[in-house]
Amino acid sequence: MSRSAHPAGPRHADVLTEGHYSAPPSDLNALDPKVWAHTVTRTDDGVVSVGGVEVTTLAEEFGTPAYFLDESDFRARARAWRTAFGHDADVFYAGKAFLSRAVVRWLYEEGLNLDVCSGGELVTALSAGMPADRIAFHGNNKSAEEITAAVRAGVGRIVLDSFQEIVRVAHIAQSLGTRQRVQLRVTVGVEAHTHEFIATAHEDQKFGIALADGQAAEAVRRALSLDGLELVGIHSHIGSQIFDMAGFEVAARRVVALLAAVRDEHGVELPEIDLGGGLGIAYTSDDDPREPHEIAKALSEIVSRECEAAKLRTPRISVEPGRAIVGPTAFTLYEVGTIKPLEGLRTYVSVDGGMSDNIRTALYDAEYSVALVSRTSDAEPMLVRVVGKHCESGDIVVKDAFLPSDLAPGDLLAVPATGAYCRSMASNYNHALRPPVVAVNDGEARVIVRRETEDDLLRLDVG
Ligand SMILES: *Cc1c(COP(=O)(O)O)cnc(C)c1O
Repeated sequence: MSRSAHPAGPRHADVLTEGHYSAPPSDLNALDPKVWAHTVTRTDDGVVSVGGVEVTTLAEEFGTPAYFLDESDFRARARAWRTAFGHDADVFYAGKAFLSRAVVRWLYEEGLNLDVCSGGELVTALSAGMPADRIAFHGNNKSAEEITAAVRAGVGRIVLDSFQEIVRVAHIAQSLGTRQRVQLRVTVGVEAHTHEFIATAHEDQKFGIALADGQAAEAVRRALSLDGLELVGIHSHIGSQIFDMAGFEVAARRVVALLAAVRDEHGVELPEIDLGGGLGIAYTSDDDPREPHEIAKALSEIVSRECEAAKLRTPRISVEPGRAIVGPTAFTLYEVGTIKPLEGLRTYVSVDGGMSDNIRTALYDAEYSVALVSRTSDAEPMLVRVVGKHCESGDIVVKDAFLPSDLAPGDLLAVPATGAYCRSMASNYNHALRPPVVAVNDGEARVIVRRETEDDLLRLDVG
């Protein structure tokens, strides 16, 4: 298998497991709280509900496929991160995981900051009222228009990703008569994946400037020399769906070493260090994610220890969780269309969505769970592969799972933990209409991103 690691990817190719589920779970009707949003529960009549609303009602009102997002869970997770990191640190929600104006308002109200990585994400954030100084702008190839828009808006920081960008941002800021606060993204030579990390000397990837060979030190030199820039810190993001904190430890140590070198060379102590995002969530019952307070404690201890050793003032820490906040808060609801049993192999269950609403399985061999949610069943478990309706045999939603063997067309299935990198990566493949995102809270359901219509499709096609 030659799939490569990706910022939004769950697993390294080396640790992919084929036929992950060896035995069916003891109770197919049970909902593991680890993988479901906080308010998800099975009611007495056997129907699953979220935020006090049953999925059968939701399907009737909003149709399928659709994403249902537990608003109170989202707010609780955002708050947990904010509280865990306290006032000496900043939490930037990574908008690329899932961004909508409702989400921006929740983040604002819960005291979080926001990462964007395109002009489109910036416009969404600003239009929902996120103050520009709480926004950070990322990306390895920001256009001049995007940089100009960000500087004009007054974003709190732009994260510089390359030597060209140092000059580009400085030039734009200066021509707009301002000084832009920036961080420098470095690659620290750590490749972090789900359960392991690899420390390497060399970073073979498109993002950031390597610490190796004095590249980052040279970038700092240039950034400090330009009037249009105010260099406030160093940024590092080491991977995604990470459970092992050891990778962050190596990254922090290497970033602090750079801060010390900068102090020695320039007499400047850069006041900020950003350790990125990438914290893992539970997609299946096998995953054991860390709580925000454990992560906050581990990161601040690492940074304080390293700074003490280097005799540096401890910089202000920031982190950028995306998946860890929104991922667990939503599930995708599908209706079963066709069922194809293959004797001795598995049963293919086709649902009314697929790779257009969840590309992660096809793209990264991501693992998901699935449950029958419109009723309970006492039937024997059967090994299934949940597939979509697209013209592509790789159109798999859940590769291996068990569902009751009396499953029938019309049943509703839910795939949990689809809050991150599903709607945000959704496509119109086969001219699919991208599903809505519905926020559910306290017995009320409200569309926050509406379903695409055939008119939407035709509007873009100017004929
Ligand atoms: C993708 C990304 C994140 C968020 O990653 P998650 O896995 O969603 O936590 C944070 N920072 C940067 C720079 C990223 O590219």
